[in-house]
Amino acid sequence: MDDTTTCSMPCPVCEGRTFQSVAHVYDDRYGEPNRYRLARCTQCGHLATAPRLDESVLPVLYGTYYPRKGTSPEQVSRSAASATAPFARLRRWWQGVNNQGQYLVQPGEVMLDIGCGSGISLLEAQALGAQAFGIEADPNVRPIALALGLNIHFGSLHDDPFPGQRFDLVVLNQVIEHLPEPDHALRHLRDRLTHSGRIVLVFPNVGSVWRRIAGLRWINWHIPYHLHHFDRAGFARMADRCGYRVHSTRTITPNLWTLLQARASRIPAQPGVPHPLWATRPAAADEGKEARRSAGIKTALRLLVLLPIAILNRTLDAVGQGDSLMVVLHPKGIR
Ligand SMILES: [Zn+2]
Repeated sequence: MDDTTTCSMPCPVCEGRTFQSVAHVYDDRYGEPNRYRLARCTQCGHLATAPRLDESVLPVLYGTYYPRKGTSPEQVSRSAASATAPFARLRRWWQGVNNQGQYLVQPGEVMLDIGCGSGISLLEAQALGAQAFGIEADPNVRPIALALGLNIHFGSLHDDPFPGQRFDLVVLNQVIEHLPEPDHALRHLRDRLTHSGRIVLVFPNVGSVWRRIAGLRWINWHIPYHLHHFDRAGFARMADRCGYRVHSTRTITPNLWTLLQARASRIPAQPGVPHPLWATRPAAADEGKEARRSAGIKTALRLLVLLPIAILNRTLDAVGQGDSLMVVLHPKGIR
């Protein structure tokens, strides 16, 4: 701990400029070698990563250390098809994977997903009867978008893609915490909404029970990729300053996150060394009888472990103390 170091950077919550260091941190997933600090705004208490990385260095950071999803158009189509399978809503709720804004889209609406990755959310929104647009910074998924005929702009929100198009629903799934200036993004988006439009944002909850238990080993600090660490109150204050009112806030905790948290807490991370938990594994090619039996046993064991986790997470979410916040914003003064 270091309680004396201060640094100057803009606070997106209160517009203050002074942050005080509260802990030394590093990339405990992918081994990016630099050291960082968790710092707290001296005016409002907002937590941020220091030093704040500039937009211009992010492509190199992500390109070098962040794993690419080795996915294909067929895999994307298959994943998206499961969104409308029987009991899909119940399954998403139980697994805690309904923490994605596209599931709130209504038939006939126009949706924009910022940071849409390989475009699964766009296919899901289309299956739910919506028209879907996406923005993605990673050009590596362009072949998938082309193969699936998806309307994705490869670049930044600030390129002003899809000129003239307004959106009923703008979705940012686990994106806002990665942006150096999240308040600028919110202000920019206000003019892209229809008169009844809303924004759904999903991001880690620094006020969660799991964060309090795990401390600095909480997997969602995700240094240095997460530049801001919001709680419910801080986020609402930022949204208000950017011209929005909070329509609803809830927490939804993916069971997988808790499983990963338990494993990450058991295996200590080393600065500059990729953590084995986050190493990408090649897909299993062996479809033999033995492999299928072993996979069946693993699935059964996993279900046994996940049952208490699922019960716990659904309970935490019922009282709003879970790991992932989902906030719906409406622009102020329009309706
Ligand atoms: Zn502040």
